[in-house]
Amino acid sequence: MERALLGKALRALVLALPLLGAAPQETVTVVATDAVPGPVHPWVQACQEWDEWDKPGPPIKLYGNTYYVGTCGISAILITGKDGHALIDSGTAAGADIVLANIRKLGFDPKDIKLLLGSHEHFDHVGGMAKLQEATGAPFVSSGIAVETMLTGKAHPDDPQFGMHEPMARITRGLAYGEGDAPALLQGFGISPIRTPGHTPGAMSWTWRACEGEDCLNILYADSLSAVSRDDYRFSDHTRYVAEFFVSFERIAATRCDVLLTPHPTAGNLPLTLSLLERRSRDGLPNFACAGYASKQKQALTMRLSKEFAAK
Ligand SMILES: [Zn+2]
Repeated sequence: MERALLGKALRALVLALPLLGAAPQETVTVVATDAVPGPVHPWVQACQEWDEWDKPGPPIKLYGNTYYVGTCGISAILITGKDGHALIDSGTAAGADIVLANIRKLGFDPKDIKLLLGSHEHFDHVGGMAKLQEATGAPFVSSGIAVETMLTGKAHPDDPQFGMHEPMARITRGLAYGEGDAPALLQGFGISPIRTPGHTPGAMSWTWRACEGEDCLNILYADSLSAVSRDDYRFSDHTRYVAEFFVSFERIAATRCDVLLTPHPTAGNLPLTLSLLERRSRDGLPNFACAGYASKQKQALTMRLSKEFAAK
C-alpha cells in the first residue's frame, strides 16, 4: 500500500475507534500515538502508561474555561468563572493531591472552587473528594444516592459492585443536584446535570458550553456506562435497574456534544479529543463521539444480558 494511502487508512481507523465495539471494562486499546498526524500532545507524551490512576500528568487547557486537571488514568475537570470555579471529580485519595497540584500549576487557587461535582460514587473518581472539600470548603453536588454514599463513605446496596471496595473518606457537606442552593449554583456555572444511573445507581453526567469569544463548544462529561459488577451479580435479576440503565444510554446519545470527556480518559479516547480540538479550525468537530460512546456501551450491556440469560 502506498504511504499516503496507509496514512489515510490509519487516520480513518483512529477516528473510528470510539465507535468500535470494546469489552465492557472501562479501558479500550490505546491509540498508537504515531498514527495521529502532527506533533504529539505533551499530555499524551507524559501519559503513555496512561491508564495508571495515580500517575501525574500535566494539566491541559481543553477549550475556553475548561481544563483537564486529572491524572494520567482518572479525569478531573476544572471549569473556571469570574466569581469562582467548579471541579468535577477528585480522583483517588492519592490522586486528589495531583489534582490540587495541577490546579495550582495552571495559576488557579483551590480556595476559589465553589462547587464540587461527582460522576459516579466509586473511590477511583471521588475517593479524594473529602480531601478536596477540606482544601476548598465547597459543597459536593451529585445525585441523592451519590451524596448519601459520600456522606457515609459506604457503597449503596444497589451498586452492581457493592461489597467490592473499601469505604471512602466521608465528605461533610453534600447536596443533591435538585436541592437547596444546588440548582442556583449549577445554573451560575451554566452546568446541566444528566442522570445516568447504571454503572452505579447514583451516576451523573454533566454538560456545559465553553466559549472562546463568540465561538462556543458543547462539552459533555459522560459518566462511565460500563456494566461491571461483582462476580455473583446478574444484571438480568434487576430488571428495573437495567431499564434505567438503557434510558441512560439514550440520554447520552441525545445530548448535543462537540467534545466528549469521560471519567476514564481511555474510555472517551482523550488523545483523539485533543487531536480533534487542535485540528478543529481546519476540519471542524464531528458530533458523533457521544452517540458512539453510548452505543458501544449499550452493545456491551446487551451482550452481557444475553450471556446471563444463556447461562440460566
Ligand atoms: Zn466505577
